[in-house]
Amino acid sequence: MSAPVMVGMKLPDVDVWSERVVVALGQNPGVFTGPGTNTYLIGTGPQRILLDTGEGRPEYLDVLERACARAGITGLQEIVLTHGHPDHMGGVRGVLERFGPLRVSKLGWPGNDERYELELTPIGDGARLSTPGATLRAVHAPGHAQDHLCFVLEEEGSLFSGDNVLGVGTTVIPAHGGDLLDYLRSLERLLAESPGAIYPAHGPRIADGKSKILEYLAHRREREAQILEALGQGLTRIPDMVRRIYASYPEALHGAAAMSVASHLRKLEREGRVAREGAELLAAHWRLA
Ligand SMILES: [Zn+2]
Repeated sequence: MSAPVMVGMKLPDVDVWSERVVVALGQNPGVFTGPGTNTYLIGTGPQRILLDTGEGRPEYLDVLERACARAGITGLQEIVLTHGHPDHMGGVRGVLERFGPLRVSKLGWPGNDERYELELTPIGDGARLSTPGATLRAVHAPGHAQDHLCFVLEEEGSLFSGDNVLGVGTTVIPAHGGDLLDYLRSLERLLAESPGAIYPAHGPRIADGKSKILEYLAHRREREAQILEALGQGLTRIPDMVRRIYASYPEALHGAAAMSVASHLRKLEREGRVAREGAELLAAHWRLA
């Protein structure tokens, strides 16, 4: 899920992004998913790991079969999920029905995962998943979602970033399950992996992963500075800050912008740098602490 700025971008349904990475598009384009969710076939053998499954569009299953045929793949070894949002996990059931029973691994998210009624194998930070030609190492990266795992592809020094770093647009920090402070710490952690290429969950391959992460960190720092400046000038409510900071953006994006400002303020609140009066984020009055 990304901020809604990716509408209209198109990617091929099936593409080969490295000798170890084939991408099959989830067929779920939209305001928050851009061209749709990238699902990845990883490895070099006849059976490969499938990373993420899209949201469950029936036409995706044909695309996945075409991706397998193109890479000479006879079947799937197992399914691994970056996190439990519907545009990543919603397609699991359909894939199992088409490809037969497979192990499905993810970091557990109690209260979220149950709705999918799937048998899940729990994995966590540092878990390794191997297939001929590829070794994935899980890195816990909460912030966009608390159960989010990214995966380093050790043979390439590349990174499957899920929704933490995107090919286009910026990551949304949802009010439910999202946390900006955690997210920024996760970006620092991913930066420490010094990734070469990044394979994001939405949008095209990113050739220089490290630069992209630095860009994300700089963008968030700049936004925070603007919010602190607005508070310093006496703006106390989120809608007023949005009107000031996002003056050059179409008003249709102000709802998403308000979510972003709210996540920054919650982070600053956790750090003891701002205080608020009022429980409801958008209605509350905020001030510098
Ligand atoms: Zn997501």
